[in-house]
Amino acid sequence: MSKNHRGKGILDKYKRGRGTCPTCKRTGVKIIHEQEIDKQKIFVCKICNVVISRKEMQLKKKAETMTQAEQKSAEVKTPDVTVEEKEERMATETGEEPGTAAKTTEDE
Ligand SMILES: [Zn+2]
Repeated sequence: MSKNHRGKGILDKYKRGRGTCPTCKRTGVKIIHEQEIDKQKIFVCKICNVVISRKEMQLKKKAETMTQAEQKSAEVKTPDVTVEEKEERMATETGEEPGTAAKTTEDE
């Protein structure tokens, strides 16, 4: 499996695997990576191979992260309720102290 696109492995290919990349138009690059664009199989250079495969990965990840984000937002909401309850308790406890302090200033 290793080094399929190097040395003797590409000698039997057209022009020893080199040519002009159909997507980035670079010349003298090895066009040995098979990619499927619009249901048509073409051979591109290794850079275009990464770019195309990354785009496919991003499209897949977008669909996955959309569902994961929805799940995460639902998970985050549950601890927020407990934090709000704690804040309400703190507000009632501390709310009495400034109330008494305000009363003393009003009396004066
Ligand atoms: Zn290319």
